[in-house]
Amino acid sequence: MTACRVCGGEIAALAYETPAPALTSIMTLIDVPTRVYVCDGCGHAQCDEIPDIEAFYDTGYRISLNSKDHDQIFAVKADGTIVYRTDHQAELSRNLLDLPHGAKLLDYGAAKADTLRKVFAARPDIEPHVFDVSADYAPAWDGWIAPDAQATYEVPEAWSGRFDAAMSHFVIEHVADPIGFIRGIHKLLKPGGALLLSMPDVSANPGDMTVADHVNHFSESSLRRALAAGGFEVATLDATSFPGAFFVVAIRSETPVKQEQDATLVRQAVERGLEICEFWRTSAAALEKRADDFRGRKAAIYGAGFYGSWIFSRIRNEVAITAFLDQNPNMQNAVHFGHPVIAPTAIADDAEALFVGLNPLKARTAIGNMPYLHKPGLELVWLEA
Ligand SMILES: [Zn+2]
Repeated sequence: MTACRVCGGEIAALAYETPAPALTSIMTLIDVPTRVYVCDGCGHAQCDEIPDIEAFYDTGYRISLNSKDHDQIFAVKADGTIVYRTDHQAELSRNLLDLPHGAKLLDYGAAKADTLRKVFAARPDIEPHVFDVSADYAPAWDGWIAPDAQATYEVPEAWSGRFDAAMSHFVIEHVADPIGFIRGIHKLLKPGGALLLSMPDVSANPGDMTVADHVNHFSESSLRRALAAGGFEVATLDATSFPGAFFVVAIRSETPVKQEQDATLVRQAVERGLEICEFWRTSAAALEKRADDFRGRKAAIYGAGFYGSWIFSRIRNEVAITAFLDQNPNMQNAVHFGHPVIAPTAIADDAEALFVGLNPLKARTAIGNMPYLHKPGLELVWLEA
């Protein structure tokens, strides 16, 4: 039994449980089981908190910190131009927030604040501010954010009621108390100030359900409920501009916001959440059986991203992994969990199986386009049962 982090209702039954290790969003393994709960009351899905959560974000979680220009590729345009994730986030943020001239904008849980830096480059009239629960990022802020506009660990009392707008990108899914988090930002905004939140949309990105440090998996219904509970009126809820994620803009209300619940949305969210849990349960059971089939034999894993890493975490003790195969040239020649990442064409001749670690909705088409992976003596093992 556990309490829903959004509506406070009791969640009686586990929807999904699998033994340790669990995979984090930064592709590390931690020695805890994965447990997912789905709330009937509001359509929220949640996982247990990870141990030592404060230390994990303070000193353990250095996303994109080691390489100055590291950014994830969001899309490749028809003409070959690469669109980076933070460029897309910055453009979406500018469009959604529609900031007034000279606005004070806070990036809450900013990390390196790449998105804010790009918003500021396009809107040099604004006053950028940053807050994070780690001091690791200060070197990335210095030089373009005034020292008194930077805060770590705690937000200064003087910032209450200060901001025209706040944005928080891909933070709230990590937070143990999401309502407290939203209320904390409410306090920092001026009356009528705007909050932009982004977070994974698990319904469009089922892999998110098993990410250990994503303790919240919002649905549209639980997101609306959380914002109302935190004192905000939803202005825009965008589930399409950033595939696999929600971008929502909400306005600070001075009076309590009615926490209405759309029964259809809640039911859809619960059904989808349980369906995703069922997918992972079936996949984990099937994978365990295939790992046993290939016990002690050589195999490669296709994909060094989330799905491939998750497969690794499930089969590493049974199967002799030779390599991860990945098409992304930025990942090739790297070492992932102690194994080389190589181009798919370079798969070793003695590998007897290839475990396909791709989004199951896209895996068969992607592998179908690689004839060199279809050869006698190499069995393809798919994630879906
Ligand atoms: Zn709930």
